[in-house]
Amino acid sequence: MINVWARTLPELEDIFKKNGFPRYRAKQLRDYLYKRFIFDFTEMKQLPKGLREWLMNHAMVSKPQIIKEQKSDDKDTTKLLLKLEDGTFIETVCMHHVYGNSICISTQVGCAMGCVFCASTQNGLERNLTAGEMLAQIYAFKEVFKQPIHSLVLMGAGEPLQNYEEVLKFINLCHDEDLLNISYRNMTLSTCGIVPRIYRLAEEGIPITLAISLHAPNDTIRNRILPASKMFPIQDLIKASVYYFEKTGRRVTFEYILIKGINDSLENAEELHHLLGKLNAHINLIPVNGTEHIQLYPPSMNQTFRFQRALTKYGRNTTVRRQMGEEIQAACGQLKRRFMQDAKLSH
Ligand code: SAH
Repeated sequence: MINVWARTLPELEDIFKKNGFPRYRAKQLRDYLYKRFIFDFTEMKQLPKGLREWLMNHAMVSKPQIIKEQKSDDKDTTKLLLKLEDGTFIETVCMHHVYGNSICISTQVGCAMGCVFCASTQNGLERNLTAGEMLAQIYAFKEVFKQPIHSLVLMGAGEPLQNYEEVLKFINLCHDEDLLNISYRNMTLSTCGIVPRIYRLAEEGIPITLAISLHAPNDTIRNRILPASKMFPIQDLIKASVYYFEKTGRRVTFEYILIKGINDSLENAEELHHLLGKLNAHINLIPVNGTEHIQLYPPSMNQTFRFQRALTKYGRNTTVRRQMGEEIQAACGQLKRRFMQDAKLSH
């Protein structure tokens, strides 16, 4: 069976041509899939009968199943738990902002990075997701809401730069005007900092926003909460970020999870400012959440704002991330974790 989902136009044209159908039919099939959400070949009446029959016998559209849908009390966040064809689970979050819908995509099943605060990495990496499985996360929402998608963040489970080729293919499909036509500027890729891949991404000619999960002002703290960082000294990561900015013109975002007693002191804020040097960057402060079970706590709101004020005083551009959907466990991997625990209990 040929999976016709998430094919580029040239790929699909090639499949059609090889099987004796005109290339232009590829565009029609894409229209059915991505504009009209028709996935059943028998309903594609504009395609000639011969082609429909060939598709029914030789092709398929591989899409995950929606297992659970959860909405936050304020209805600002919706989370879907999806079951993939091999029986693994992933989660996707849609944040309904005033300016439009923003979807947070998972790029792997599980994650190998081992960050101490993150629920997605607790059972290690299961596998990479394909571009099609990433795209299906968006279409799951489109089918439910019938609304346009404004922006994408690759910030769900997984390390996107460890799944480089499929992630890049996915980004380009989202940009494709036959599919979602999302501007590169409205896409953000979040990485824990795989330095050589940041250089490679800078060369791709796609001006997406790079978000770096920095979480610490020095190697000692960073190595402790983000074990994968031992491979890449923090100074090298900053150099790569400078390069990314120079090459793409896109201001880099640094995510900084605030954990009480670990990285939230005013000295840490000062060190962070010096670390970033002249780099024009945005710092997103994120009080850690959902980690009581491993005894990591967010600082008080007072301390959080003191930390922010210290950075502002140095002239740094900072925000404190709004906690959306906390009660539905929207932070990385927490819905899946809860679902798996419940499933275990009921066996
Ligand atoms: N591997 C990539 C993307 C996944 S993690 C990366 O490291 O960037 C992306 C983001 O999820 C983190 O930077 C952080 O902003 C958020 N996150 C993960 N666990 C969290 C937690 N317990 N509390 C708050 N934010 C969390």
